Amino acid sequence: MKIRLMEVGPFCTNCYLAENEETKHAVLIDPGDDGDRIMDVIKKYGLTIDAILLTHGHEDHIGGLKEVREGTGAKVYIGEGDADMLTHAKSMFFPGPVRNYGAADVIVKDNDEIEAAGLKFKALTTPGHTRGGVCYVAEEAVFCGDTIFAESVGRTDLPGGNYGQLLKSIKEKILPMADDVTLLPGHGPATNVGWERKRNPFLQ
Ligand SMILES: [Zn+2]
Repeated sequence: MKIRLMEVGPFCTNCYLAENEETKHAVLIDPGDDGDRIMDVIKKYGLTIDAILLTHGHEDHIGGLKEVREGTGAKVYIGEGDADMLTHAKSMFFPGPVRNYGAADVIVKDNDEIEAAGLKFKALTTPGHTRGGVCYVAEEAVFCGDTIFAESVGRTDLPGGNYGQLLKSIKEKILPMADDVTLLPGHGPATNVGWERKRNPFLQ
């Protein structure tokens, strides 16, 4: 699995491509904005996208969904608790109409196994940042959205946020993983489980 990172949109969201290097098929994670630019990158590398995995329903993680969905025809996955955020997408920060990105093709539940692009992903529900937040585990990497960041955690002051639940999700689902498992968050640099267990000030 080769991982490519694109930073998209005004909130500098990390949009990832998890690529099967043998087949040139790939999975797209969190097309947060700049859908046309994401499509250009997909075309540049000659990739076929088999699935679009959403870690959660915030606007800065789904803003480019329309273009990449149309451009790739790939199925869209989102956690159960955030499913309605696709069909009733309301900006948290900017005034404007409620948008509809279309319902997800697959509603993800805890411990679901997702096979796409010849890669295997395990879904772990991690509510707290939103109701339906999901981390996707592939090989030794976790696409963890806004659940945990390098030495920080996701904000919980937006609708559906719950700080106690977020810490519980991190402690029960992420911290038990091996030290060298890579965490690929929705914003900012990558980190790993061992570092966060020791150094993340929110988890001490
Ligand atoms: Zn978020």
